[in-house]
Amino acid sequence: MDFSKDQKHFKMLAKDFIKKVKDKEISVIKNTEKILKEAKNINKEYSYFNFISEEYALKQAQEIEKSIKQNKAQGSLLGLPISVKDCICTQSIPSSSGSKILENYIPPFNATVIQKCLQEGAIIIGKTSQDEFGFGGFSTNSAFEIPKNPFDKTRATGGSSGGSAGFTQATSLPHISIAESTGGSIVNPSSFCGVYGLCPTYGLISRYGLIDYANSLDKIGPMAKNIEDIELMLNTIKGQDPKDSTSLNQELKKSKIKKIAIIKESLGVDKQIKDLILEKLDSLKIKYNLISLPITQRYGIQTYYLIAMSEASTNLAKLAGLTHGSQLHLKGTFNEYFSEVRSKFLGKEAKRRIILGTFARMSGFRNAYYLKAMKVRTLIINEYKKAFKKYDLLVSPTMPILPPKFSEIEKLTPLQNYMMDILTVGPNLAGLPHSNIPAGFINKLPVGILFIADHLCENNLIEIGKKLK
Ligand code: GLN
Repeated sequence: MDFSKDQKHFKMLAKDFIKKVKDKEISVIKNTEKILKEAKNINKEYSYFNFISEEYALKQAQEIEKSIKQNKAQGSLLGLPISVKDCICTQSIPSSSGSKILENYIPPFNATVIQKCLQEGAIIIGKTSQDEFGFGGFSTNSAFEIPKNPFDKTRATGGSSGGSAGFTQATSLPHISIAESTGGSIVNPSSFCGVYGLCPTYGLISRYGLIDYANSLDKIGPMAKNIEDIELMLNTIKGQDPKDSTSLNQELKKSKIKKIAIIKESLGVDKQIKDLILEKLDSLKIKYNLISLPITQRYGIQTYYLIAMSEASTNLAKLAGLTHGSQLHLKGTFNEYFSEVRSKFLGKEAKRRIILGTFARMSGFRNAYYLKAMKVRTLIINEYKKAFKKYDLLVSPTMPILPPKFSEIEKLTPLQNYMMDILTVGPNLAGLPHSNIPAGFINKLPVGILFIADHLCENNLIEIGKKLK
C-alpha cells in the first residue's frame, strides 16, 4: 500500500457523513463492513490495531440501522466509526494498554468518553496500538506488533498513540480516533503521520476509565483528518464527570486570535522543518513575534520525566499478579511472586520507569527529585501564564525531527529518546491545550505545527486550524 501516492483520500467530514446516515443515503451496516475490511487489510502491513472489534462493531451497526429504519435514531456521531487507544477501557473489548501484563483484560465497564461516544451513536471498530502504558514516543515500546508510518514503512508512526494516528491517516473512510497524551502522545504521532490532533486542557475531558500513566498529566483527546472532526469530537466528549474529581466544571472560552508568538528556542530544529513552519505561518497573514521560554526549554524534560515516572511507578504497583492483570502459578513469598510476574510480563522501558520513579520518590531522595520537580513545574506554568497575558497562541514545530527509521531508533539511548519530547512536554506539564496541524511534507514525510493556547482556550486552536487549511 502506498498512501503517499494516493493523496485523493476520501475527505468527507464526519458531520456530512452523519447527515447522510440520518437521511438514509448511507447504510451504516455496509459502511461498517467496509471500514472493518479496510482496517483488517491495512493492519496486516501496518499494525495499527491491537484488536479489531469486528463482531461488536457489526452488532452495533445492526442496532443503529434498525433504529434509523424506525426513524428513532439520534446522535451527533450516528454510525460514525471510531478507533480507541488501547489504554482507554471499552466494555467487552480487550484493553491492554499495549502491555502483556494486561493482555487478556476485558473491562466490565466503559470509560466516560466511550460512554459518551456510544450514546451519540459512534461505532467502535478497534483498539489502537501504542507504547506499553504510553511509555515512549515512537510506539516501538509496544508489547505487540509495532505500527509503521503510513508514508514509509521503515519509519515510526511516533507515539505513544501511534496506531491511532497511523490509521487516521491510512483509512479512506470517515473516522475519528480517541487518543491520549501524558507528555505529547497526541501531537507527536499526529505530526509524524500528517493528521490533526488535539490535546485538551487538563481536566476538560474525563479520565474515568483511562488506564493511568501519570495522573497529574494524562489527558484524552481526538485525532482526525480535519479540524472540523476534531471540533465535533471535542464537543462530544468534554465536560465535568462526577466519576473524575479532577474534571473541570468550566466552559470553554470564545476564540480570540490577535497576537501570536513563535517560541524562539524551538527554532533550533532541522532547518528544513523550521523553514516549512515559518512559510506556513506567513500564509496566515497574522503578525507574529518571537518569545523566549527559557525555564521550559532548560528544565522541561527533566521535570516531566521525574514527575511522569514517579506517578507511573505508583500506578503500576497494582499490577503484581494478584488483583489485576496477568497471573502465574502462585508460589514463593509475595516479593518473589510479584517479581516473577513483573519480570515476565513487563517490557524493558516499563521496568526502567518503575526503577527510576521509585528511586525519585524514596525517602531521602524525595526532596531532591520529586518535590523539586513539582516546584519547577510551577515555574514552568508561570512562564506560560505570563506569555498568555500577551499572546493568544504560541507556536513551534511539533517534533524536532522527521519521522525516524526503526534502524535509527534502535541506536538511540534512553536519554536521546526522551529528548525527542523537548517541544511537547511544556504544554503537557502546564496542562495547556495544544494541537498539531499538518504543515506539509519534506522528502515525502509529514511535518506538523504545534499550537499552544491558554487554559480552556481550545477554540483558538480550532480557529487557527480552520484558518490554516
Ligand atoms: N514520550 C513521552 C513519554 O515517554 C510522552 C508519552 C505520552 O504522552 N504518553 O513519557
